[in-house]
Amino acid sequence: EEEHEAVREKFHILTSGDDVPPPIPTFKDMKLPKPLLEYLKKKKIEAPTPIQLQGIPVAFSGRDMIGIAFTGSGKTLAFSLPLLMFALEEEKRMPFVQGEGPVGIIICPSRELARQTYEGLQEMARLMEQGGYPQVRALLCIGGINMSEQGQTLSQGFHMVVATPGRLQDMLEKRKFTLAQCKYLCMDEADRMIDMGFEEDVRNILSFFKTQRQTLLFSATMPKRIQDFAQSALVQPILVNVGRAGA
Ligand code: ADP
Ligand code: MG
Repeated sequence: EEEHEAVREKFHILTSGDDVPPPIPTFKDMKLPKPLLEYLKKKKIEAPTPIQLQGIPVAFSGRDMIGIAFTGSGKTLAFSLPLLMFALEEEKRMPFVQGEGPVGIIICPSRELARQTYEGLQEMARLMEQGGYPQVRALLCIGGINMSEQGQTLSQGFHMVVATPGRLQDMLEKRKFTLAQCKYLCMDEADRMIDMGFEEDVRNILSFFKTQRQTLLFSATMPKRIQDFAQSALVQPILVNVGRAGA
């Protein structure tokens, strides 16, 4: 435990909460499947950033988490990679039946962010499939995109959704899909999402969950409103707070 604390100190990581999983300072030690290691190599990503080396183990552990880290610190990978691994696990446990809803969702405050996150997930999923792992599919659920563009994904069913709040709420209300099987929820840029007035939408989306879920909330800042929101949406979360080096 002392050793783990030394790693956190070295990377300016503060944690709080019960039984925080150990930080893992290399991707190799995270025991990732080979295609994902290849993905990282292709992206010239060598070592995990602080939010990744502590956040990924927390996400893998199944615990709720609040991740606070500055812009550009690699938060996207910290929640996308665990979502993909979870989707693959679920697919292996119980192969997907057509028409089923997603097992995991990422909510982003803007279309551009959602699209980037979706593309990263897609690329990782494709490499996994090429590496002999089961196919898992993602749906991009944002305004301004014609759902028939993704008609095949919609009809085959999808394991993961990357969405903006308004469009997701709309799709759920129109019963395009359900969150009955959804067990992983990540909210990216939660501070921005609340500043943009999406809190009601997000709370409404939460009411569509039917089963116990793991909830991750990422933010660059932690104002009172985010704290209150986290209090109501997360269960015994682990807080991972990464300071700027030297700050
Ligand atoms: P954030 O969401 O925290 O602002 P991003 O997830 O958008 O940051 O990542 C910022 C950039 O850093 C992206 O171009 C991403 O590919 C790159 N990146 C992510 N993880 C690493 C890493 N471990 N090493 C080097 N670059 C990384
Ligand atoms: Mg980000």
